[in-house]
Parts: sequence; structure tokens; C-alpha cells
Amino acid sequence: MTANTMKALAKSKPEPGLWMIEAQVPEIGPDEVLIRINKTGICGTDIHIWNWDEWAAATVPVPMITGHEFAGEIVEIGRNVTGLKLGQRCSGEGHLIGTDSRQSRAGKFHLDPGTRGIGVNEQGAFAQYLKLPAFNVVPLPDDIPDEIGAILDPLGNAVHTALSFDLLGEDVLITGAGPIGIMAAAVARHAGARNVVLTDINADRLTLASHVVPSVRTVNVTKEDLHDVAHELGLTEGFDVGLEMSGSQAALDQVVEALVMGGKIALLGIPPGKSPVNWSRIVFKAITIKGVYGREMFETWYKMIAMLQNGLDVSRVITHRFDVSDFAKGFAEMKSGRSGKVVLDWR
Ligand code: ZN
Repeated sequence: MTANTMKALAKSKPEPGLWMIEAQVPEIGPDEVLIRINKTGICGTDIHIWNWDEWAAATVPVPMITGHEFAGEIVEIGRNVTGLKLGQRCSGEGHLIGTDSRQSRAGKFHLDPGTRGIGVNEQGAFAQYLKLPAFNVVPLPDDIPDEIGAILDPLGNAVHTALSFDLLGEDVLITGAGPIGIMAAAVARHAGARNVVLTDINADRLTLASHVVPSVRTVNVTKEDLHDVAHELGLTEGFDVGLEMSGSQAALDQVVEALVMGGKIALLGIPPGKSPVNWSRIVFKAITIKGVYGREMFETWYKMIAMLQNGLDVSRVITHRFDVSDFAKGFAEMKSGRSGKVVLDWR
């Protein structure tokens, strides 16, 4: 049996910061499981919530236990749940979906318009225990450790974006060398891309990228011209596929310019507000653009676990590990803009 109360990291006041609180252990419904959390990853979303910026203040009700990147172990199972066992190690999809929409009924669960996120709209994973619909649970194979389990959510963003288009033999340009951009570069290499070029304006992030994926060509666009890099790689017509992970208008413009005729762009980066787009350039280059949100349920999860079991290695993207009592240090590292993934240990 579990205790009645637990430690949790929560937005308990509508102001910057997060606070370690004593909360009730969630009571599960018949279709849910209770997960004891072992490790969690800190996401950019959690930084927005810590900072209590405009988006967070408009989106997140208080009090709210934050966090959505986790790995743990099932300790309680609802009476309708089949196919899961006590003690099963797992991660899980943090997007809670309905089943009535057109897209859900078509099996495209990640496109359900009523999606709610744990740690944003529903009580989250920065806690000793998390309740989750059994539907959202993703069992972890023995060869995937908890700290990788704790970053499957952002790796899933990278995989969903990178696998938006066929990459075998293609030349791929990725803009934005945050942890997700770096992991997308690793996935693109794993998926058979010929050249993978990763750009940023932050030298520390590019150094980390070279460390995680030595075979990627990093470019600091404040120092090097993408045109010269394409020339050096022998790309006479440009890149075939662009993955925009930064949310920067300048980066999107660079991708459009650098693509071949008929090139493809997947967009994961979120620009702040509206931004001007040179649409005629996109039309005349016959470019296909795809917006990417979350992870496909559960094809992305299936593919990323399969790739991890087949040599995809993103472990070096985790640069900092802290006991959860030192959570403030973990958030400080994230806010520095120099870290990779920061993992908190709840055991
Ligand atoms: Zn996240």
C-alpha cells in the first residue's frame, strides 16, 4: 500500500517559482493506473511555468503539480485495466485525449482537439505518484533505463518531427540545437540521412550537439554562412528536408532559402506570436510544410523504442542529474541555456 500523502513540485502561487509541497496521493479510477515516479525530465514547458510568463499565466490553473516527462513503476491498477501488471516499469504519453472527435475515431489520437496535458492542464508527474489512464502507459523494456524513459517525451517530439518525411539518403537541415533538435539530428542519422546539418546561434549548444552526435555538421550561423556549408558538402541544389526546431523567424527563412525545389519542412519550434513569412518564396519553390504537435499515439513511441533497441543513442543529451531535493539547481541549469536534458531523481 502507498501512503496518503506525497511530495510534489507544484505551482502553488500565481507567481514565478515552483514549490515542494505535500499533496494527496491521487485516487485512481477504474481505467487508470497509479505510477510511482522514479525519474523525471525538466522541459522547456516547465521553465515557462516556473517563470510564470504570459502563456503560463493564461493556461495553467493554480495549484498545479507540474511535469510531464517521467519514468516509473506501476503500483496500483484500476479494476477495468487489462494487460498491465504491478511492478511494470513504464513511461507514458502525457497528452490525455478524448475518443469522440473525428480524428480520434479515425485512430489519429494525437490530433484530438480536446487534448489535455499532464503538468499543464491536469496534475502532473513531478511527484512521488502519478495517476494516468492505462491507455497512456508505455511499458519500458528492460534494456531502456529509467533516465532514458524520463526523456522519451521530448525524444518523441524529435522522432515525430524527424520521421515526418522519408530521410533515407536525404540531406537534412535542422535549425535549433536544443535537446530536441540534437535528438532529431541523432534520429535523422539513424534513419539513413546522408548529411545532417544542425544550426544554432548558441556555441554551447552546438558543442553539446557534436558531443551527442559526432557525425552531425554543426553550424553557428552567426559565424558561418549556410550557403558555404552546403557548398562544402557538395549540395549543389540544397537540402532535401528541413526540421525547424527553434521557433525563430530567421531560422525558418534560412531553411526556405536552403531547400531544394520541392523540399519539405517539418515545424516543431513555436514562434512567439505572429511573424512575417515570405509566402511567394515557399510557393515558387513548391515547398511542403507540416506542423508537428506531440507524438503519434502510439506509433512514435513504438518507433523510438525500436530505434533505441537498435543502436540509437541519445544518452549524452542528459547533461545534469539531481536529487529532487535539489530541483532548484536543475531549473537553474535549464535556464542557463547551456544544459542538455536535466533529470531529477525521485527515489
Ligand atoms: Zn516536454
